[in-house]
Amino acid sequence: MLQLPHQPLQVAAVPPQRSPAREDQAGPWHSEAVCRRDEAGLFFAPSKEPTAARLAREEAAKRVCARCPVMVECREHALLQPEPYGVWGGLTAAERRVALARRRRREVELRKAASAGERIAAAG
Ligand code: SF4
Repeated sequence: MLQLPHQPLQVAAVPPQRSPAREDQAGPWHSEAVCRRDEAGLFFAPSKEPTAARLAREEAAKRVCARCPVMVECREHALLQPEPYGVWGGLTAAERRVALARRRRREVELRKAASAGERIAAAG
């Protein structure tokens, strides 16, 4: 059953240090993270979480991220680490994997285009 926003969310059994805002070494953007004031359990899945509960929890986490002033920095951090679990910067782990794959494909295409351009310039 889907949880409505006004219903209490399921609290995840995750270590507190996994909360995005509590990752001390990640950068100065953490001091402005909105999620510091929310439960860490909103951002990370408990074990054996039913699909409907996961979707509701992730959407609730994304709503927190949407009003966060450091969403871009957080998302970039999670992509660069990369962070394998949880909602970071408004993206789930699966969405970050897709974003990373797109980014890598784009980088490969840019390298190929640059290489082809160099060959054309060298051929004169
Ligand atoms: S974007 Fe989301 S996960 Fe990242 S710091 Fe802000 S509220 Fe936390």
